[in-house]
Amino acid sequence: MINPHLKSTAQLSTCSYCGVGCGVVVGKDKNNILSLKGDESHPSSKGMLCSKGMNLHYTVNDKSDRLLHPQMRYNKNMPLQKVSWDEALNRTAAVFKTFIDKYGPNSVAFYASGQCLTEEYYVINKLIKGFIGSNNIDTNSRLCMSSAVVGYKMTLGEDSVPVCYDDIELADCFYVTGANPAWCHPILWRRVEAHKAKNPNTKIIVVDPRATDSVAIADLHLQLNPGTDVVLNNAIGRLLIENGAIDTDFIANYAQGYEAYKESVFLKTLVEAAAICGLEPSEIRLAAKYIGEAKGFITMWTMGLNQSAVGTNKNLSLINLNLITGQIGKPGAGPFSLTGQPNAMGGREVGGLSNLLPAHRNLNNPLHRKEVQDFWGGKEINEKPGLTATEMMDALNDGSLKAIWILCTNPLTSLPNARLADAALKKAKFVVVQEISNKPETLAYADVILPAAGWAEKEGTMTNSERRITYLPKIVDAPGEALPDAEIICRFAQKMNYPGFDYKNAEEIFIEHTKLTANTNIDITGLNYSILKKERSVQWPYKKGKSVNRLFEDKIFYTPSKKAIIHPVDDTLTSELPNSDFPFILTTGRIRDQWHTRSKTGKVNKLNQHIKDAFLEIHPLDAALLGINENDVALIKSRRGEVMVKAKITSSVKTGVVFLPMHWGKILGSDLNRANNITSDQLDPISKEPDFKYCAVSVEIYKKP
Ligand code: SF4
Repeated sequence: MINPHLKSTAQLSTCSYCGVGCGVVVGKDKNNILSLKGDESHPSSKGMLCSKGMNLHYTVNDKSDRLLHPQMRYNKNMPLQKVSWDEALNRTAAVFKTFIDKYGPNSVAFYASGQCLTEEYYVINKLIKGFIGSNNIDTNSRLCMSSAVVGYKMTLGEDSVPVCYDDIELADCFYVTGANPAWCHPILWRRVEAHKAKNPNTKIIVVDPRATDSVAIADLHLQLNPGTDVVLNNAIGRLLIENGAIDTDFIANYAQGYEAYKESVFLKTLVEAAAICGLEPSEIRLAAKYIGEAKGFITMWTMGLNQSAVGTNKNLSLINLNLITGQIGKPGAGPFSLTGQPNAMGGREVGGLSNLLPAHRNLNNPLHRKEVQDFWGGKEINEKPGLTATEMMDALNDGSLKAIWILCTNPLTSLPNARLADAALKKAKFVVVQEISNKPETLAYADVILPAAGWAEKEGTMTNSERRITYLPKIVDAPGEALPDAEIICRFAQKMNYPGFDYKNAEEIFIEHTKLTANTNIDITGLNYSILKKERSVQWPYKKGKSVNRLFEDKIFYTPSKKAIIHPVDDTLTSELPNSDFPFILTTGRIRDQWHTRSKTGKVNKLNQHIKDAFLEIHPLDAALLGINENDVALIKSRRGEVMVKAKITSSVKTGVVFLPMHWGKILGSDLNRANNITSDQLDPISKEPDFKYCAVSVEIYKKP
């Protein structure tokens, strides 16, 4: 129920879960209890909210799990003790200085989150790249979007999502692949559903090894074998060429690489490709027909493509379909990656990954490094990319990384092959954990714990999947001594005696960020909080007071040749393949009402009603062969560990494929429900994104010893 007080004190903000970025109206009563509803004025969501968004305020109202004070211990055998902010930050600065002096700047690292606000990302990035002299800053966006970042850069020249949400209502064919937006991007999907209901001729193709809820409105479900996406996309590319359904004008004038691509997709016949994908040739033909006949064609994807040992190739093969058909830079068309986290886009804009620089500058470009260095007035920016998320764990394990600062993320549940992260944090010389909740497992390894303010307790900005920047106000005070993440980082930087971190408020950080975007393709110079509050939101680039909702309408791309690049894509799968010991393919994913590692959604009773516990989806034929009945406890093993959860028998997965949700971990008890006990730590060689969607496992019924 909406609090009656809502109207008088309501403030506009943005949901802090997924990358759809829905607008919310937040009310506050005299006891500082928040209430919330959808914001009808928000252009992305038009008043709609999904189950997670509708319950977001409970995560702020319930303070029972909040960290209230800095804590610290002087050695690993001591218990953590409550200390002042000065004590905690002085000691952290002293330890960091010691390691940097003794072992060099690459001996320390920051591991952050796509849930950080843009201002927070900005100051962490400035601190480590500009002043410590290392590029060891990565975020959990590495685990979800880095393959898409590489895909965009290689094809369009920059990490630039070309479409806007309003393109949904202008498209007549959607190719949704490696995504279950009905559960993971629900409000965006509601727009697709409404569009389809109004325009029944709109074709929806869903490509997924599982029959998810997104399949319900699909005209065609291509239930392919896991890992065969490149084969499928190439086969569709070949059919589009054979059918004459390509845009020869676009290819001739605005793209390069077509001939090599054509040659590559003709290496396999349709029958060969269909057999590899586990599909009928007629199904692939139908997909090519729908795409070829479309006036507006949108490809939509997320983790199913990105989280793969061949994630870059999957992205390239998909974006190729938009390029050969010329379905980009026009209404209702384009490649459209759905960001998993609320501000993964904002983080990419400020260069918040170990291989990026602010405003889409390239780390390997000496001029770009110099520009940023001059702007910040700090040290020479290191040309060597820093450690990525999983590489940080490897470096802790081999001893080359001494100190890690983890903020706003829970790597012990979310990183692949969790035992590696566990061993790494045990081995780390110094661990700082900056968190809102006392639940994440990471806290057990911390030498210093820094209590952070959460959503609605601090101000800043976020950018959603359509490049839309919104302002999030501070609505209530954070509990105890918790501070906004940006303020914590700036206080630490000042303890390190670095200049340029004495911002008066979050807006000063934002303005500095906007200045660094001058003369770049994401130019937002001139934008400030007043404009954002007045306009509600803007899309970058934002020039002369005007948002750009769709990119590349002029067909000028950000590559050196100004042409889009069509890449021939090798379809070899390099994942860990099943064998007689581990005969099943495990794929992991999200469920509707939980978010990441449940540190927020897990404390909302309403959300726990949907699905209470982790489970294993297994096909009825496989379950029968193994003697597993519904709700039996299944033991799932890989070369790396094991998981024990109840079996859910369903033909929504294919035979030979099993599925585990990724949300559970030690937060509420044992870690035997943690999918990442068994996932593979293999990475895509370019994007360094882990292979969460494919590894070999065995399944048996659990028998008590
Ligand atoms: Fe929040 Fe995403 Fe749901 Fe919108 S769709 S309410 S942004 S979780």
